[in-house]
Amino acid sequence: MSWDLIGHGWAADLLAEHIAKQQLRHAYLITGPQGIGRRTLSLRLAQAVNCLRPPAPGQPCQACSSCRQIERMQHPDLSIVHSEPPSIEIKIDQIRMLQRTLALSPYQANYRVALLLDFEEARENAANALLKTLEEPASRVILVLTAESIERLPPTIVSRCEHLRLRPVPVEQLSQSLQSQHHIDPDVARKLAHISAGRPGYAIELEQDKQRLDQRITWLDDHYRLLGENRVERFAYAETAAKDKESLRALLPIWASLWRDVALQATGASVPLTNIDRQAEITTLAERFGLHVAMSVIQLLEHTNELIDQYVNARLAAEVLMLDLPRR
Ligand SMILES: [Zn+2]
Repeated sequence: MSWDLIGHGWAADLLAEHIAKQQLRHAYLITGPQGIGRRTLSLRLAQAVNCLRPPAPGQPCQACSSCRQIERMQHPDLSIVHSEPPSIEIKIDQIRMLQRTLALSPYQANYRVALLLDFEEARENAANALLKTLEEPASRVILVLTAESIERLPPTIVSRCEHLRLRPVPVEQLSQSLQSQHHIDPDVARKLAHISAGRPGYAIELEQDKQRLDQRITWLDDHYRLLGENRVERFAYAETAAKDKESLRALLPIWASLWRDVALQATGASVPLTNIDRQAEITTLAERFGLHVAMSVIQLLEHTNELIDQYVNARLAAEVLMLDLPRR
């Protein structure tokens, strides 16, 4: 089985080599967009260092009890830290609790592995608390942080980690892997490879959750309709959407993905579109608005999401967005 990832072969090779040559770092930082495979890569690393029957140095068997427990994220020497809903922040208490755990030697494994997921969600005091652990690492402890990008993390954290940046998997490669490794129908695989914009985890999630796929279509329909509507109708939409902050945070990137396609179309770039099922709308918007407006709408959508992350009143943020969206 070995690392068994879709794409990111270079990252698996690098980590396997660190293990095989006993050059493991104390801390890794894996960045890339949601659904690209950051957590899967982190879990494979945890498996590879703790596998009971590695088929080759640095390779996890994915079949022994240790590999299986790690896959289920239920291994006694695996700690997982992430924001706990309804909170969207990683808190200092969570870091302190992790530090107490890491101070103990592993129960049964070679290494204790701590995964700190979406670490850009850490409060400043939580990130500062983690610095101490990064500066004075215990032996037989590996920290793996994930984040969207290094720009959203304190430089002091980034500089203490070995950084691996995961990029989207080419659409054709992803489509092939979805067919061969996950037995997904060729037409569906191709569509998922586009819609997920080369993010394997997101593609698989969509395949397993038809509701999310339908939700995406509804949100794209809503957006296109809103572009033709007036302020009253837009504000009514903002009011409803803001009631569910989580779904608002999920909706904005999907709208942004449409505008990214519009921008690509406007420049005539021969890059595969994400929303291949919305080709007609993308062409209309590209002709109507062009590159400059498309770029400003992407910025607007990203900025709105940041505001919501920063606890700005969601309804207010959504209303401002509605005022600033262009009119079709
Ligand atoms: Zn194993």
